[in-house]
Amino acid sequence: MSLISVVVPCYNEQEAIPFFYEAITETASKMREAWNGLDFEYLFIDDGSKDGTLQTIESLREKDDRVRFVSFSRNFGKEAALYAGLKNARGDYAVTMDADMQDPPALLPEMYRAVIEEGYDSAATRRVTRKGEPVIRSFFARRFYRLINRMSSADIVDGARDYRIMTRRMVDAIVSMKEYNRFTKGIYGWIGFNTKWIEFENVERVAGETKWSFWKLFGYAMEGIIGFSTAPLSIATWFGIIMAAVAFLGIIFIIVKKLIIGDPTSGWSSMVCIILLVAGIQLFCLGIIGQYLAKTYLETKQRPIYIARKTSEDHKA
Ligand code: UDP
Ligand code: MG
Repeated sequence: MSLISVVVPCYNEQEAIPFFYEAITETASKMREAWNGLDFEYLFIDDGSKDGTLQTIESLREKDDRVRFVSFSRNFGKEAALYAGLKNARGDYAVTMDADMQDPPALLPEMYRAVIEEGYDSAATRRVTRKGEPVIRSFFARRFYRLINRMSSADIVDGARDYRIMTRRMVDAIVSMKEYNRFTKGIYGWIGFNTKWIEFENVERVAGETKWSFWKLFGYAMEGIIGFSTAPLSIATWFGIIMAAVAFLGIIFIIVKKLIIGDPTSGWSSMVCIILLVAGIQLFCLGIIGQYLAKTYLETKQRPIYIARKTSEDHKA
């Protein structure tokens, strides 16, 4: 007997969940035929939705006790939802996927085969196209992956979705990372394990709308960089070295010029520009340090990653 936990973060997904449930149960019954003794649980994480998401999930649970849920006390974000899902998953394998069907359930048998027959610890998916996505967003997304991979030792794959299957060992490894500022893509890269990458074409969401604005994504990208790289911290060092070198050359130049042609004082405006430039660079570097300090501050508080308001297990008691 092995159990697969399907973890689904949901934020205002009342329209999408019925489609999703339909599709995943269909795939599940196919897989149960193909592999004997396979069972499923569907763990929905209601991330503080403001619509009828929780009611939708609860009515599914009434029909099907494979459905479980954890409902948050407010919106904690998808990263927190993924953590809660993996933490509460009981399966020998866990799958994380979105509720909006952008992660095609039809890929699941192939992913499961990779872990069960081909000896991988995990099978993950990446989209090879970003069709149907705003052009600007794709552009910045690509820049971001280039940048972060240059700066960080965690291997972060472009186009990787949070749709993957993993073994219990890997789930435990992820849950053991209790950082408050979570960046799942980086966490996967950091913990290692063998991952098989399965590629597919981008699919548009089935119902509802995306929860990510450009700025939300931008903030998320910053989170990733600060969480998985300390390279920005050395920017200040480099600026400092370069500026000192330039200033040193400048001083020699001025002394030599003074000795050769004598020098009536001049250049008030260039002076002001230089002072402003240096002050700007200093503030910029201080800002970077501040970003890391802020994250450190949040981590040291050791706040819980999520707070549950209600779970499917409450009912039984
Ligand atoms: N999601 C979540 N909490 C949030 C935002 C999103 O749990 O604060 C869930 C959402 O319900 C969906 C998944 O994360 O299942 C991906 O979100 P979305 O489809 O909006 O992102 P996109 O696919 O457009 O990147
Ligand atoms: Mg989506």
